[in-house]
Amino acid sequence: MATLKAPIEDIKYLINEFLDTSELSNIPIFSDMTADLTDVIFEEAGKISETLLFPLNRTGDEQGCSYHDGIVTTPDGFKEAYQEMTAAGWGNLICKPEYGGQGLPHYIANAVDEMLVSSNMSFTMYMGLTIGAYNAIDQFACDELKGKFLSNMVSGKWSGTMCLTEPQCGTDLGLIRTKAVPQADGSYSISGSKIFITAGEHDLTENILHLVLARTPDAPKGIKGISLFLVPKLNVNDDGTLGEPNRVFCSGIEHKMGINGSSTCSMEFENSKGFLVGDLNKGMKAMFIMMNSARLHVGIQGLAIAQASYCSAKNYAKERIQGRALTGSKYPDQAADPLIVHPDIRRMLMTMKAYTEGARALSIWLSYKLDVSHNADNKQHRQDADDLVSLLTPVFKSFLTEIGETVTSLGIQVYGGHGYIRENGMEQYLRDARISKIYEGANGIQALDLVGRKLPEHMGKFLRHFFHPLSNFLEQHSGDERLSVYIHPLAKSFSRLQQATLFIAQQGLSNPNEAGAAASDYLDMFGLVAIGYMWAKMAEQITRGTGEMADEFYDAKLKTGLFYMQRILPQTGSLLSNIMSGCTSTMSLSEEQF
Ligand SMILES: Cc1cc2nc3c(=O)[nH]c(=O)nc-3n(C[C@H](O)[C@H](O)[C@H](O)COP(=O)(O)OP(=O)(O)OC[C@H]3O[C@@H](n4cnc5c(N)ncnc54)[C@H](O)[C@@H]3O)c2cc1C
Repeated sequence: MATLKAPIEDIKYLINEFLDTSELSNIPIFSDMTADLTDVIFEEAGKISETLLFPLNRTGDEQGCSYHDGIVTTPDGFKEAYQEMTAAGWGNLICKPEYGGQGLPHYIANAVDEMLVSSNMSFTMYMGLTIGAYNAIDQFACDELKGKFLSNMVSGKWSGTMCLTEPQCGTDLGLIRTKAVPQADGSYSISGSKIFITAGEHDLTENILHLVLARTPDAPKGIKGISLFLVPKLNVNDDGTLGEPNRVFCSGIEHKMGINGSSTCSMEFENSKGFLVGDLNKGMKAMFIMMNSARLHVGIQGLAIAQASYCSAKNYAKERIQGRALTGSKYPDQAADPLIVHPDIRRMLMTMKAYTEGARALSIWLSYKLDVSHNADNKQHRQDADDLVSLLTPVFKSFLTEIGETVTSLGIQVYGGHGYIRENGMEQYLRDARISKIYEGANGIQALDLVGRKLPEHMGKFLRHFFHPLSNFLEQHSGDERLSVYIHPLAKSFSRLQQATLFIAQQGLSNPNEAGAAASDYLDMFGLVAIGYMWAKMAEQITRGTGEMADEFYDAKLKTGLFYMQRILPQTGSLLSNIMSGCTSTMSLSEEQF
């Protein structure tokens, strides 16, 4: 069976020792985040993950959601768990106190998010989508809509969705056909079909608030004519009570490869009453806000599921006995040695551990930068942090979800045939992880966003917010003997990344296919270097010797970091070769030759 232990020790280390939170320490909610308080939050989150959500993970997968005549039923136990989770406030950690939320920093909330997702990715999607919708309404809707809808979202009484996809329109949202016709009372009549809508219909909440992309009759063609509307499943009266159904129908649910406990719905809007969120024809701007927070959440899904798989795999490798150690029997009194003695099993476990812990450091570090972008006193600091988060969002979403797939696949391999069969739960992790590379903008599209928008933005200004601190860090520690095994490989890979950046910037100008063909390899290089930077920073922080964790913990960190530098980061070399070979071979066949 799969086993789960929340990575509380690692999270405590990252929050209490690794992260420098001094920039915001004069702001009350940040100064309140003492280790005493946050340790309790993490321990409670770990407990609820392990005891409430994890036991529903496999049963939720086996049972899935069911559909009957427009009604969707979630797997057994989800409803009770949802009540418990929302009553305890686990769904509103980052929401504003004025709506009943807890107003916690992102770096705390996202660390909790990892633990919850790790234990049951399907379940957490119902709460995750609500937070995305909350963010868009909070930022763009008028006060009347906020007053009417937000507090019930924050309490978990009502949930949210994001309705972009239509049968003819996935990546290319300019193809959206759903119509929004203005009404005399200032509302809009929404009609159209949406597909693949997560949590579009379910039995967990009293009402569901759909954020729908649609176009008004005289809107400009394509992406510039799209607006965002809030469309409740049930109308809400002026006094806040629930009114008549709003002609929003679920016409079916998808049968999927994974995340079976999460409902994926086809939705029909038939002259449903909708309210404009933000400005007319500026729907994509509001949707990007929602998607940016959702993209960080999806990156965390990759990390979380990697953690879950690693946790089971390391335990299994210690228990399962097969063969003898190459250097001679380690446990002569047993019929065979445990799997963990074998170098090839070690290779897999170290890869899993190095990716997962490095990704967790990046997650917490980037989440803090998001907090700085919202809260720093200094406007320029806020802007700089915002630029950095914008640059790294596609990298984080894509690279961490790639890690999710790689690590969950390795997890199966560690279990051998016992990983491939359903009973042990390892194959579910891979099936669940797979979608995270596709939704919220497929990874290939994230790569295009990185090279096509984020690199050239303000003549490379975004890029400088990552490259300059990294460069300074390398320079500052270049003479430190103890750190050389981390600094030199990182410097080498960073130099490759800079070479690739220059190549793409130059070649992409004369032939856009060069940038397009290089994009995914470039994003992977970026992700490898970003996580390498985290490992080097951890090594630097640990060698200062000021921490309070056990020596054993630091020893494992330094060794795992070294493995990353020696056995994972050098992949930047082959990625650079791919990029420098240009796009000719990729584009050389005619369509008929495929
Ligand atoms: C389980 C699940 C849950 C989902 N939840 C939601 C939800 O809640 N709300 C919602 O609105 N949608 C949701 N989606 C839809 C999801 O976001 C889309 O599937 C995704 O955006 C891709 O669109 P598509 O499937 O139409 O693929 P397509 O757009 O047809 O793309 C197919 C492939 O082509 C690539 N591609 C497309 N265009 C380009 C290009 N210009 N350049 C290079 N490559 C390109 C893509 O990267 C992809 O690999 C969900 C999907 C699933 C399966």
